Amino acid sequence: IWEEMLRLFELELTGVSYRTWFLPLIPKEINEELKLFYLETPDSFSQRVLETRYIENLQKKAETVIKEPYRVVIQLKPDESEDEIEEKKIKENPKKILKDEFYFNPRYNFENFVVGNNNKYAHAAALAVADAPSMAYNPLFIYGGSGLGKTHLMHAIGHYIMENHPEKKVLYVSSEMFTNELIKSLEDRKRIRAFKQKYRNIDVLLIDDIQFIEGKEATQEEFFHTFNTLYDLNKQIIISSDRAPNKLVNLEDRLTSRFQWNMIADIQPPDYETRVAILRKKAELENVDLDDDLFEVIGLIAEKIKFNIRELEGAFTRITSFSTLLNEKITVKFARNILKDILSASDFNISCESIKKTVCKKFNIKIADIESAKRTRNLAYPRQIAMYLCRELTETSLPKVGEAFGGRDHTTVIHAYEKIAAEVKTSQETADIIDELKDELNGK
Ligand code: ADP
Ligand code: MG
Repeated sequence: IWEEMLRLFELELTGVSYRTWFLPLIPKEINEELKLFYLETPDSFSQRVLETRYIENLQKKAETVIKEPYRVVIQLKPDESEDEIEEKKIKENPKKILKDEFYFNPRYNFENFVVGNNNKYAHAAALAVADAPSMAYNPLFIYGGSGLGKTHLMHAIGHYIMENHPEKKVLYVSSEMFTNELIKSLEDRKRIRAFKQKYRNIDVLLIDDIQFIEGKEATQEEFFHTFNTLYDLNKQIIISSDRAPNKLVNLEDRLTSRFQWNMIADIQPPDYETRVAILRKKAELENVDLDDDLFEVIGLIAEKIKFNIRELEGAFTRITSFSTLLNEKITVKFARNILKDILSASDFNISCESIKKTVCKKFNIKIADIESAKRTRNLAYPRQIAMYLCRELTETSLPKVGEAFGGRDHTTVIHAYEKIAAEVKTSQETADIIDELKDELNGK
C-alpha cells in the first residue's frame, strides 16, 4: 500500500519535498477496526511538517489506494519518541518536568491577590488548601464568572505549595489542555500510558475551567478515573469552574456529585472598594506614582467597570501604557480621552429617562405603558430590559429605578436585572438587543 502511495506522491510533488518528507517514512501498522494507518518518522520536525502540511493529502492517497477512508497517524520512531524521553525524565526528576509545565504567571500569587467581601471565602479556602494539601478541603471547588480571579487563585495555590512543600508534585492544567492531551494520546498506545502515568503520579492536581469538558464524554470518563485514583490516594484536587457544580448541566452526575463532596467556594463580582484596592495594587506593581490625579482616575474606572477584573485592569493598563507612550501625565482628562468608549455613559448623560425613551422607541411602545402596571409580555420584556440598562449604565439607586417605572418595588428591579443578566448569557437575541441599545445610548 505504502509503495503505491509513494508512487503517487512522487508523481505529484517536487523531488526535494518527496525525498525530504516522504521517502524516510516507514509504514508501521494498519488498524482496520479503527481505520488508522500508522506511519513512522525519524524526527519530530518532519512529524510536525507532515502533520500540518501533508496530512490531508496523505489521507486522500490512502483512500485512493485502500479504497476506504483512513486516518493517517504520523508517529515518532519509538526509541526516540518524545513521550518516552518524557517518561524517563519524569522518573528521573519528577519535580522538574511538572514545574516546567506549570505555566507560571509570577504575578498570580497570594501577595498580589486583593481580598474583599466578594472573594474572601474562596481566598481562605485556597490558602488553607495550599497550607495543608490533602488535609484541609478535598476536593476544593472554586467557581465564579469570567475575569473574577479563579485562575489567579489556582496559580497562587500552585506557587505556594511548590515553595512551602517542595516535595509535592504539583500539576496545573486547564481542562482544555487536559482534553487536548487526551485526544493526542488516544492515537498511540504508548502515549496513553504516559498520559495516565503523568496524571496519576502527582500530589496536587489543579484543573482550571472544568466547564470546558461539558458534553465531552470520553474526557469526562478519563477525568473521572483520574479523579478517583488521586482521591483514593488522598491527593489534593482543586477544580475551578464558571458555574456552581449543580449548574454544570452537560456533565455526568457522578462527576458533579464528586465536586460537591467537600468544599465549594464562590467568587462574586467585587464591590467598589475592592475594585479600587485592586487597581491600587496594580499601580503599585507597575510602579506608577500614586498621586491625587491617579486616585481620581482609579475611582473613575472602578465606578464604571464592575463585573470583570480583567476588564478593570485592562482599562487601567491602557491608560498607563498610553501615558508612557505619549509621555503625558495621567489626569482625569487624559483618562477620559483614552477610555472614551467606557466612560461615554457619563459623557452622554445617560439617565433612566433617556433609557426609557430609547427602549420604547425600539420596541415601539409608549412611555406611559412602560411605566404602567400592565404586565403583558410585550410590555414586561421591554420594561425589564430598560430596568437592566438603568442598573448597568447609571448610578441610580434601586428604589429610584423602581420609582422611574411607575413606583415599582426595588425587588422587582433586582429580579428584572438578574433575569436579563442571565438571558444575555444564554440568548443571543437578548444580547444583541442590549448591545444595540447600548450603542444607541452611547451615541454610536
Ligand atoms: P478568571 O480565571 O476567573 O477568568 P483571572 O484569574 O484570569 O480570572 O483574573 C483576571 C485578572 O484579574 C487577572 O489579571 C488577575 O490577576 C486579576 N485579579 C482577579 N482577582 C483579583 C484580586 N482579587 N486581586 C488582584 N487581582 C485580581
Ligand atoms: Mg481563568
